[in-house]
Amino acid sequence: MNLAEKLPRDRYEENFAELHPAFDRNQATSEAHRCLYCFDSPCMKACPTHIDISTFIKKIATGNVKGSAKTILESNWIALTCAKACPVDVLCEGACVYNDRGEKPIEIGRLQRYAIDRYFEQGMPPLFTPAPKNGKSVGIIGAGPAGLACAAELALMGYDATIYEGKEIAGGLDTWGIAPYKMSFEDSLKEVKLVQGLGVKIKTGVWIGKTVSVPELERTHDAIFVGIGLGISPDLKIPGEDLAGVFDALEFIERVTTRRWSSVDVGKRVVVIGAGNTAIDAATEAKRLGAEHVAIVYRRGEQEMSAYGFEFDLAKKDGVVFHFLTAPKRILGPAGGSVETLECTKMKLGPAGANGRRPAEPIPQSEFRIPADMVIKAIGQKTSDSFLAQIPSVKLNEGRVVVNPESLQTSNPRYFAGGDCINGGKEVVNAAADGKRAAHGIDRYLFSK
Ligand code: SF4
Repeated sequence: MNLAEKLPRDRYEENFAELHPAFDRNQATSEAHRCLYCFDSPCMKACPTHIDISTFIKKIATGNVKGSAKTILESNWIALTCAKACPVDVLCEGACVYNDRGEKPIEIGRLQRYAIDRYFEQGMPPLFTPAPKNGKSVGIIGAGPAGLACAAELALMGYDATIYEGKEIAGGLDTWGIAPYKMSFEDSLKEVKLVQGLGVKIKTGVWIGKTVSVPELERTHDAIFVGIGLGISPDLKIPGEDLAGVFDALEFIERVTTRRWSSVDVGKRVVVIGAGNTAIDAATEAKRLGAEHVAIVYRRGEQEMSAYGFEFDLAKKDGVVFHFLTAPKRILGPAGGSVETLECTKMKLGPAGANGRRPAEPIPQSEFRIPADMVIKAIGQKTSDSFLAQIPSVKLNEGRVVVNPESLQTSNPRYFAGGDCINGGKEVVNAAADGKRAAHGIDRYLFSK
């Protein structure tokens, strides 16, 4: 791989500085006073965790910032991550009534961040008193947003909650998978500490099925929550995938989140395959790390890509080039060596099928090559089938764990699940909502027996 030149440290810091700076007190108060405290709060309905947005904003307006943080955390244990990384344009802020008047919506994300930042700055004074211990124990697999939310809610209800996390540092995608210009690694660790402060035990470096067996886990706990997220991208199934310089997008993003710039290598010419939000993050990060040319290759058109509009705009602003209706055909390079070129085929969209989706078809003899010394795969992720196969009687559908939509109970009544492993990869806020809902599902299950 031909490496891009390392940049001076301050240049990296500048390139990865937060896109949306924090409000100061005056800005937060003034923005909070713009809120109309709508009776039916469409913003609240649009939030998957249903934070009482008008109430927390009103508390900021009246100077009760600690009370505001409490209102937020009552609904969402991962509120700082959500404030910084949620696609607010399509959730709460997208539903704000100001949009109907053609005016700028209330900056709900930045206000939420203001309240939670102050709360952490004050050293997390206790806001909640966990109920007395009820004698029941729940094991939680995965310390990502779903697992943390589930464990926090259970601890508050008096459960003994233990999270098992394979990595050495907890937080899941909040810690390892969010671009540093959206939020920092340290922000996620603050939320981990908040959950631990409720009495939740987190055992890191423990892989269920390897370090601790599934039967052992079942002997230890009354119920189990599965919040394992998704694994890496599936194979592209094209020649050359094993060449040096081919990476998985999440593995690449993970190296960037720790901000150890000197240890993150990037190619001079990078091609990212896929056009979802993860693909955009990988492409934008590669550019900000100093790659000279970054391209995104996507087999369908701009209309079909799953990345949000604001993510697409950010990548274009950073100089990322988009090749729509283009599919990778093979990755070329010397045997046992590194990537040199990506060969692609131009595609066209056929007529819509019964599902309304227009299939992409290759255009004969349309092959062309893009020089590349690094190829990043970002074509979605798959669940860890090999792990899930170890859990007795848990049914899967297209790789996702099947759950009761109300309780999030799986087909094995002792197991509950939430987050990306049931939805195939949505937002952090959906995982936070699932974790909380599953905790109440577990509570009903254990106390109805
Ligand atoms: Fe405030 Fe907008 Fe929510 Fe109304 S919809 S309560 S104005 S944030």
